[in-house]
Amino acid sequence: MHLKAALEQEYPGRDKATIVELLECKVPIIKQYADFLFVHDYSLYTAKQWGMSPEDIDPSVLKRVPVLFSYKDGYFDDTWQMVPEEGYTAWFQNLLNHPNIEVKLGVEAITHITISNGQLRIDGEPYAGTVIYTGAVDELFGKKYGALPYRSLRFEWQTEKGDHVLDAPLVAYPEAEGYTRITEYSHFPQMERHDKTSLAYEYPLPYKEGVEAEPYYPILTQESMELHERYMKELDNIPNLICCGRLADFKYYNMDQALEGTLRCINDKLKVSTIR
Ligand SMILES: Cc1cc2nc3c(=O)[nH]c(=O)nc-3n(C[C@H](O)[C@H](O)[C@H](O)COP(=O)(O)OP(=O)(O)OC[C@H]3O[C@@H](n4cnc5c(N)ncnc54)[C@H](O)[C@@H]3O)c2cc1C
Repeated sequence: MHLKAALEQEYPGRDKATIVELLECKVPIIKQYADFLFVHDYSLYTAKQWGMSPEDIDPSVLKRVPVLFSYKDGYFDDTWQMVPEEGYTAWFQNLLNHPNIEVKLGVEAITHITISNGQLRIDGEPYAGTVIYTGAVDELFGKKYGALPYRSLRFEWQTEKGDHVLDAPLVAYPEAEGYTRITEYSHFPQMERHDKTSLAYEYPLPYKEGVEAEPYYPILTQESMELHERYMKELDNIPNLICCGRLADFKYYNMDQALEGTLRCINDKLKVSTIR
């Protein structure tokens, strides 16, 4: 039986399945296909991305990238898929231009925010106003229970001749040495084509003390999720400190999820309606 027919029979009416489901499938041709994908793609990519063996990763991470049964060239099935007409830079500039918003860059929040005796302090003084913090929650407590594990990335930029060299804006290279994927920006709709093209190579690396890197992806294991929960419990007693976003929530968010989670959090904590 052909793989396509086997998939249709095994997953009727479905257009995708997770690699975890395919690996557990009893149909030999599907199982063989899943093993091939796992060995040549998922396991290599995952091991590089997370710096650990796939068995130690929370299955939600492997399930995040399902196998699609279709010839569509788009990967996501969200009803609305878009980028801002003039790009994200202009979008954020417009947001931040609001007269009530003052932006200060290069300020380390933890040098101003402290928590002592269950009370929020700003620059050492007790503070009763509301503070929204979008950093990692372990930093708020001096990592007293241990550091929350995050993975980081080093971006390496290359310029090539021609208006493009890849066939798509983002290509994954599970079998390449060191890097996981390459983004070529000239493919995005609002980019002008030139005689040169910029490529960003992503090299995953650990986020740890002494390494100059930003925390990007939470490493989700049972232990790390419990550690996060422990810090969050302490925050229950400080209602005027609102922690939200991908770092504080310790979740592998896409932008829409980060926004939705934050709007919900603001609704719940400040009792203002932001979701219509
Ligand atoms: C390489 C990469 C590619 C991605 N691609 C996509 C994509 O294609 N589509 C998609 O939807 N999502 C994508 N994402 C995810 C997306 O970037 C996040 O979901 C989104 O940025 C989360 O927003 P946030 O406000 O929660 O966190 P962030 O955007 O990380 O904002 C948190 C801010 O808090 C600041 N901060 C943290 N700690 C401190 C501190 N102690 N002091 C001062 N400031 C601090 C940080 O500098 C940062 O500016 C990608 C992420 C990465 C890393």
